[in-house]
Amino acid sequence: MSFKELIINAGSSSLKYQVFEMPEAKVLAKGIFEQIGTACTFTHKVDKDGEEVKLLDKKPVEAKDHHDAITILLETLTDKETGVLESMADISAVGHRVLHAGEVFDDSVLITPEVMVELEKLIPLGPLHQPANIAGIKACEELIPGVPQDAGFDTTFHSTMPDYAYRYAIPKEAYTKWQIRKYGFHGTSHKFVSQEAAKFLGKPLEELKLVTAHIGNGASLAAIKYGKVVDTTMGLTPLDGLPMGTRCGTIDPAIIDFICRKENLTVQEVNNILNKKSGYIGFYPESSDARALRAAQAEGNKKADLILRMQSKKIVDYVGSFYAYMGGMDALVFTAGIGEKSPQTRFNVCERLKEAFGIEIDAEKNQVWGETAIVSKPTSKVAVLVIPTNEELMIAREVMKF
Ligand code: ADP
Repeated sequence: MSFKELIINAGSSSLKYQVFEMPEAKVLAKGIFEQIGTACTFTHKVDKDGEEVKLLDKKPVEAKDHHDAITILLETLTDKETGVLESMADISAVGHRVLHAGEVFDDSVLITPEVMVELEKLIPLGPLHQPANIAGIKACEELIPGVPQDAGFDTTFHSTMPDYAYRYAIPKEAYTKWQIRKYGFHGTSHKFVSQEAAKFLGKPLEELKLVTAHIGNGASLAAIKYGKVVDTTMGLTPLDGLPMGTRCGTIDPAIIDFICRKENLTVQEVNNILNKKSGYIGFYPESSDARALRAAQAEGNKKADLILRMQSKKIVDYVGSFYAYMGGMDALVFTAGIGEKSPQTRFNVCERLKEAFGIEIDAEKNQVWGETAIVSKPTSKVAVLVIPTNEELMIAREVMKF
């Protein structure tokens, strides 16, 4: 028996969706609303006999909030010309990507009024995304009442970290009073690619030591020992860890006070700089897009070259520490925009891991873009894999549990 599931990924001003037929995991429709609240546009694609057809391409629409966007989406999905559903009753369940589960949930949950109260309480931990996620859930409750809804969280896959990995060595009240600790993000992606890696390697996940490298605009690594996350690079917020498109990653926390005093800025202003004006864009103001930086690097731009080498070094630092912490590593898995499509990033990282860990990347096999592949040599002590992530499908699979 097949079910149609609507998966919603609501960002602060965007909303992505996919309609799946499960358990076949066939994508019937997908798309995105961008710039919700201002100059909103809508892109909508459907499956026609196995081909993806773009029916709406950045069509301007009136959507002042997520409720409006979901109203337009449901009309479009049931429309004769643009739809893939007979009626709204065809939707068996809705899965929402939700940013933060705090310490309240350790897995995806079926949404109930009690769960909604908890999600609202977690807003301070994700002030930009959590309200958008909640707005998406509320809109669906209103527009398709009675349809079961599930929340798949970015943080829960990391909930297996031991306390000595997730606590910060600051006065304990930070944790007991404010739940300040490492949570980690991109959990849905780390979970998906770890499961796919196990399938690819033909071994149970419970027998593998993996490091998954989700390198996109946002970037994080996870150490996954026998199917459970034991450490990850993002922290209380997604700012921590690797340098990213616009985020600085780990820095000496005293830098914040230093800049505040030197530039006469508030903590919030410096926080904004660290989140939005650092990383790639902090060194190469023209763009935060990895392709633009690689092109600039090839033309001899020293700043682009430096930040790319800084990012690779940091990836290597974490892979090395996770290797030691897990007592070995069976596979290093690259995923997300850069991880899947930048052979150069994979090569630079793996070359630096060669001497210490016997990781041998195969330069020819490494020429893959966005497809599942093993890119290490047979003699490599650690398998290096490229596995395209699919967070929406992971959420759709979790919904099937309910
Ligand atoms: P996010 O979901 O965090 O916004 P993505 O996973 O989509 O990010 O990754 C976006 C990043 O992937 C961008 O920096 C983009 O430049 C990079 N990227 C996409 N394609 C390529 C490519 N062919 N080569 C190098 N980088 C690429």
